[in-house]
Amino acid sequence: MRRVLLIEDEPGLVLTLTDRLENEGFEVVSAQDGRTGLARAAGEAWDVILLDVMLPGTSGFDLCRDLRQKGVRTPIIMLTARGQVIDKVLGFKLGADDYLTKPFDMLELLARIEVQLRRAAPGPSGDHEYRFGDIVVDTRKAEVWRAGVPLDLSAREFLLLKHFLQHRGDTLTREQLLNEVWGYDAVPSTRTVDVHVAWLRQKIEPNPRHPQYILTVHGLGYKFAG
Ligand code: CA
Repeated sequence: MRRVLLIEDEPGLVLTLTDRLENEGFEVVSAQDGRTGLARAAGEAWDVILLDVMLPGTSGFDLCRDLRQKGVRTPIIMLTARGQVIDKVLGFKLGADDYLTKPFDMLELLARIEVQLRRAAPGPSGDHEYRFGDIVVDTRKAEVWRAGVPLDLSAREFLLLKHFLQHRGDTLTREQLLNEVWGYDAVPSTRTVDVHVAWLRQKIEPNPRHPQYILTVHGLGYKFAG
């Protein structure tokens, strides 16, 4: 299910938008102040963030800039009040993807959301971003974020994670992983795979002792579930 984070302090608008977006099949979570909004936006994976410009105690622009600085790349649609003079150029520079002026038509909001989802969706040539839990992996840039914070993976850990992501759900034997990820100059030891899997789990699993993404398939190898 596609997830929308709504950062907005007007209770009426929160109700209306939540109701309507849920009817359209979205999961909607709302945050009514900047601090909660920032924490949730950076801490979980979302498909779209709807961000009010005028929030108690903060500005949506500052929040947007903070999110981008944390490496959060979720599409952001800013919601601005009628008559509010805003500098859209500045907003785009801070990382916003689109704007809507209140009051807006629901159909227009839905259309704008669809545009952002299409842009963010991996296309035939842009199949380079993966998400699971609070992890985002950009295989083209070779970057991995956890809850918006960049993770420091070794080159081999990154290649191993990438291989798992490209074969989600498949059981991969240690020999296969050695061949595919280490190649011909591999140390001929499947123990190498286990060690790297353990390191990777330390970095990406919420609880490395009880992995939920890189699963052990007893007697066979590993499987990525996420
Ligand atoms: Ca507001």
